[in-house]
Amino acid sequence: MKDTTTIPYKIYLEENEMPKSWYNLRADMKNKPAPLMHPGTHEAMTAADLAPVFCEELVQQELDDTTPLIEIPQEIRDFYKMYRPSPLVRAYCLEEKLQTPAKIYYKFEGNNTSGSHKLNSAIAQAYYAKKQGLKGVTTETGAGQWGTALSMACSYFGLDCKVFMVKVSYEQKPFRREVMRTYGASVTPSPSMETAIGRKILAEHPGTTGSLGCAISEAVEVATSTPGYRYVLGSVLNQVLLHQSVIGLETKAALDKYGIKPDMIIGCAGGGSNLGGLIAPFMGEKLRGEADYQIIAVEPASCPSFTRGTFAYDFCDTGMVCPLAKMYTLGSGFIPAPNHAGGLRYHGMSTTLSQLYHDGLMEARAVKQTDVFEAAEQFARVEGILPAPESAHAIKVAIDEALKCKETGEEKTIVFGLTGTGYFDLVAYQKFHDGLMDDYIPTDEELQASFAKLPKVE
Ligand SMILES: *Cc1c(COP(=O)(O)O)cnc(C)c1O
Repeated sequence: MKDTTTIPYKIYLEENEMPKSWYNLRADMKNKPAPLMHPGTHEAMTAADLAPVFCEELVQQELDDTTPLIEIPQEIRDFYKMYRPSPLVRAYCLEEKLQTPAKIYYKFEGNNTSGSHKLNSAIAQAYYAKKQGLKGVTTETGAGQWGTALSMACSYFGLDCKVFMVKVSYEQKPFRREVMRTYGASVTPSPSMETAIGRKILAEHPGTTGSLGCAISEAVEVATSTPGYRYVLGSVLNQVLLHQSVIGLETKAALDKYGIKPDMIIGCAGGGSNLGGLIAPFMGEKLRGEADYQIIAVEPASCPSFTRGTFAYDFCDTGMVCPLAKMYTLGSGFIPAPNHAGGLRYHGMSTTLSQLYHDGLMEARAVKQTDVFEAAEQFARVEGILPAPESAHAIKVAIDEALKCKETGEEKTIVFGLTGTGYFDLVAYQKFHDGLMDDYIPTDEELQASFAKLPKVE
């Protein structure tokens, strides 16, 4: 066992060391992410365009490309205190197991009831909705982590929370649903008879088990047609990356406390919010020319937005009601194979991360599902935590990199984001253990067919 006296197993921050502001990475980007575009007029979306859908202050945050630090309101900091700081853990046991000279750290965001980092933004979005005097919010959820986080946040502020849950998940993940109902949210399987778009889809496709795109369309319809309601989203948007910067700021403060400078930062990427948050202050230094880091996004080979997608304006949803965003995308009609990392099955990617990737400031890797579960299991057996399948994508690449160090003898410092726990994903673990898990990878023809349907812009 390596010497654990100088660097503790877990680095926590004191209350007075916690971030007081979020960091807005866009302020330091020379090439700003392209603006959201109106799907009808192809003009950049203005605050007035976004106001019927989103809360006012969140619209301001969404459009703000210049303010580097945005103060975290005291009420949100008070809530963060209930489950933050999250620990930055030195993975001594994993290092030992791998016999690597690399130093591995992970930032663990699964230490709250919702089980993932999504609560960091849910509480902020609920706060601004409450402040605006709204009655409630609507959203969609696929795998259920976002819906769970949002229902916790809404119950804290006494807001009504209407969740449209993709029907297949509603039926297959009854426990997620019950957690949301425990926190007072109403959960509707989508498509439903409650909305015009839901009734239309059900009439056209009776018996459909739904999709995320359809659930988004229903949630937006209810938000825009019910007085006192707005729609909220758990990833992809700039505002979500802003709130998630608390992850990176804490990580950097904890490392700075012990004079540690990472060489490499790794995170899984679905819509890009945890990774965007984790890397924010490090990427800021890189953009300002103060330091350099290798930054790696990890995505499933079944839904490879960065590594095989195209950089273009596309719809954010399958229902094509939301604005267009310029991002690495597989096409809004692309339906990834039913892999078991629900949070990584999004066709697109944050516009901020897309621009950074396009500018060569970060890398991306795609990994196969069975390799991911193998890494998850290896990690669980030595570090104790049962990781979410999404998080295990980052574990997989962290292990790969640590093994490279073993060959070269380099003592690199690797930091990765462990976004959540996998207790609601045990059916996936079961498939893996029973040898029933597959590794479907889309063909070039499938992707080309999807790219051909991208909206024509410019
Ligand atoms: C939602 C989710 C993700 C992926 O979302 P990002 O916006 O890319 O961070 C990753 N891990 C967990 C545990 C999630 O719930």
